[in-house]
Amino acid sequence: MGTTREFLNEGTAGETEAELTELRSLRPGRLRTEAPIEEAEIKTAGVREPASRGKGPADAIESWEEIERRVQQAKNVQLYLDFDGTLVAYQPRPDQVRLEPGMEELLGAIADHPGVTVTIVSGRRRAVLMRHIQNPAVKFMGLYGWEDSDAKHLPARRERELGILRKKLSELPSQAPGVVIEDKGLSVAVHFRDATPAVARRARAFVDKAAAGFRRDLQTLETHKAWDIVPREVRGKGAAVRQALRRAKKSSLAIYIGDDTTDEPAFEATRGGIAIRVGEFERTHARYRLRDPEEVRDFLARLEAKLR
Ligand SMILES: [Mg+2]
Repeated sequence: MGTTREFLNEGTAGETEAELTELRSLRPGRLRTEAPIEEAEIKTAGVREPASRGKGPADAIESWEEIERRVQQAKNVQLYLDFDGTLVAYQPRPDQVRLEPGMEELLGAIADHPGVTVTIVSGRRRAVLMRHIQNPAVKFMGLYGWEDSDAKHLPARRERELGILRKKLSELPSQAPGVVIEDKGLSVAVHFRDATPAVARRARAFVDKAAAGFRRDLQTLETHKAWDIVPREVRGKGAAVRQALRRAKKSSLAIYIGDDTTDEPAFEATRGGIAIRVGEFERTHARYRLRDPEEVRDFLARLEAKLR
């Protein structure tokens, strides 16, 4: 696939510095090394975090008092939520995930508060997200934030290229046990959650070879146990959240909750807001963390009670 540099060279002119930073950080599996990770603070405080919980960010439930204060002071709240691994636990196949009972109502209750906006920002397609969460008060941004309405279109050439790629990749599962291809229409995702590491390595080589001819127009994003080959117009969750925040009221408090490397640019975009990373990770730009979707639900229930 095209590297970020190639992607940048071919990009249309006029990106802001922040957007260029965003594009650079989209490079698969890599966080910018100059990122202000809060390890220094922890060393100074002499606190050793349990290895299983990662180090750096503070537990969002334990830090509830300081978060609650900021929510109370805010006139408006922009809540952004990733979907897989954040609102729902991962399943072997992406179509097997289900929201826990009460989650849909909880999201609706938060979105119904005056001055509060709830937006789901996911790698999934917008229509798929809307099937999972059927509440007209909730907003949806699919394909890593690019698909913010039903009327988004791409050049026909992208769809042709994705069609050819999809056909090539359809041969992969028979040679790579545990690998599943997901046709997302405007992207093709290769899931390797159930593959052995050796099979996953072979599958990656297969994917890179299949996509080699399309590096001008398509790029590979690394998401949770999957590679998602998307059109180059899809610029990631950071660009999407930054744009949404530019449109929001200046007094808004942004809260972003996500579990994946593709959420990292969005954590940076909410700087000054509240960024929360879910699950196991090594490094993050988020200031807070939550253990799993169950803790996310606890956090959202506290938030909803506070907004009343
Ligand atoms: Mg996720």
